[in-house]
Amino acid sequence: MDLNKLANALIPDENVKPLEYYEEKYPERDLPKGAQVTRLAPSPTGFMHLGNLFVALANERIAHQSGGTFYLRIEDTDEKRKVEGAVEVIHASLKYFGVNFDEGADLCGEYGPYYQRQRAEIYHAYAKELIKKGLAYPCFCTEEEMEEIRNQQTENKLLPGYYGEFAKCRNLSEEEIYDNLKAGKPYVIRLKSQGNVEVKHTFRDEVKGEITVTENNQDVVILKSDGIPTYHFAHAIDDHFMRTTLVIRGEEWLSSLPIHIELFKALGFRLPKYGHNCSIQKQDGETRRKLSKRKDPEASLTFYREQGYHPTAVRTYMMTLLNSNFEEWLLKFPDKPIEEFKYSIGKMGKSGALFDILKLNDVSKTMMATLNENEMYDFLKSWAEEFGTETQKAYFNDKEYMLKVLVLCMGVGGKKRRKDFVCAKQAMESIAYFFDESFAPAYEYRFDQETVKKILSSFAEIYDEKDDNSAWFDKLKTVAGNYGFATDMKAYKADPTAFVGNVSDVAEMLRIGVTGLANTPDLWTIMQILGKDRTLKRLEKALQ
Ligand code: GLU
Repeated sequence: MDLNKLANALIPDENVKPLEYYEEKYPERDLPKGAQVTRLAPSPTGFMHLGNLFVALANERIAHQSGGTFYLRIEDTDEKRKVEGAVEVIHASLKYFGVNFDEGADLCGEYGPYYQRQRAEIYHAYAKELIKKGLAYPCFCTEEEMEEIRNQQTENKLLPGYYGEFAKCRNLSEEEIYDNLKAGKPYVIRLKSQGNVEVKHTFRDEVKGEITVTENNQDVVILKSDGIPTYHFAHAIDDHFMRTTLVIRGEEWLSSLPIHIELFKALGFRLPKYGHNCSIQKQDGETRRKLSKRKDPEASLTFYREQGYHPTAVRTYMMTLLNSNFEEWLLKFPDKPIEEFKYSIGKMGKSGALFDILKLNDVSKTMMATLNENEMYDFLKSWAEEFGTETQKAYFNDKEYMLKVLVLCMGVGGKKRRKDFVCAKQAMESIAYFFDESFAPAYEYRFDQETVKKILSSFAEIYDEKDDNSAWFDKLKTVAGNYGFATDMKAYKADPTAFVGNVSDVAEMLRIGVTGLANTPDLWTIMQILGKDRTLKRLEKALQ
């Protein structure tokens, strides 16, 4: 068969450039020895999974720590999954977590275009080359014929796919091909696989270590009937011409590795290094399962922004999942920026990483406790501007007041910082009682209404905002003593039945009266922050 003629018939010369053109246009990158070129290659579906951040962080760390380049390529070959504005979502959501690209889609860069749909010419040029070499061919099988093949394979319990005797179009004669073309039959271009599934190779996966890879024997589609490449083909072409040195991607691609190895070989390209990252799992009752976009709100990156998790907290937690020695490092250097941690691909988990939101919350509380009140103010304010209610936005109208609230609730200046804040949403809810607009107490006391009234009204009568903490407490004790509550804990413990309760019960009633809550930071300070008028109004309201 005249393969040159066939190649020209399928992909005319005027549609492509000579191959040298591409090699020259995208030369090897001039980078220091050992520098890695990595990438993130998401589809623009508009949904950013936590797994995307997981892979992005690993790729970003490896590139930047080695003095290399990290770029963004948009894999938009599947028009059906494409969503308007998705690329902005990718940039914005990753940027929030401190993942920045050096080049790529919507950024500058010499190795673009970085949208696969804009790279048709280069895919066609190389598909043509494979046809010329007898390593690719047109396949005219219809949907019905493909269905028939699948049925036969299922019936005979054979592996699915287009290979061996099932690869009908692999051996079409020249005449049959041209007849089909003349008849205008739609076709795809398939790889003419040279592999043998009986042959196995040892392969070094940068994450999983030594693995066994079976040769590919599938005549996979490389160009679809509309001329758009499949993931496999575009991956080989793009990672070659964007000069990627290391592909860290999700382990769901491990089963396609044999195809990729064969494609790189057929194209005459050097294979990059690969590392297949384990997927993020979640404990669901007795079993572990993949974090699911459908079932788990925490699978979406949007969740963390809406809840107001601090980006450093999420990044820190993700690092604990990504590198097994990170936690140890963090304990040793709690104050160092995490960028200083030496990320190591060899320390990445080989099997599923268990995502545990409680652990994230712990990491987050600790991280939030490293902020000062001004940093917290800015963080909460920017969260509220984007996600808060109108009432919450108004919390920031009086900066001085808000800072006082934060100093108290964060324990700034105290012996030990409080760790009450997990994320912005929860933090804002937890300080809501300082703001009359959102003060809606349920008043759940452990004492009867009459006792509560007596305590609250007597305290209101003698409350003086000029009292310091100890004078204030003396007054509280006076009220306690007047109504049969023990003021001395020792005496109370010796015989609790001799008292209605003790002074801490009285403090609790007051606390609930003023804040609506049984647990808060120091009550004297809360009253100071609220100011006399507001404190007395609250007590009055509680008495109604
Ligand atoms: N578009 C593929 C995905 O989103 C990329 C896989 C890869 O990194 O090569 O899963």
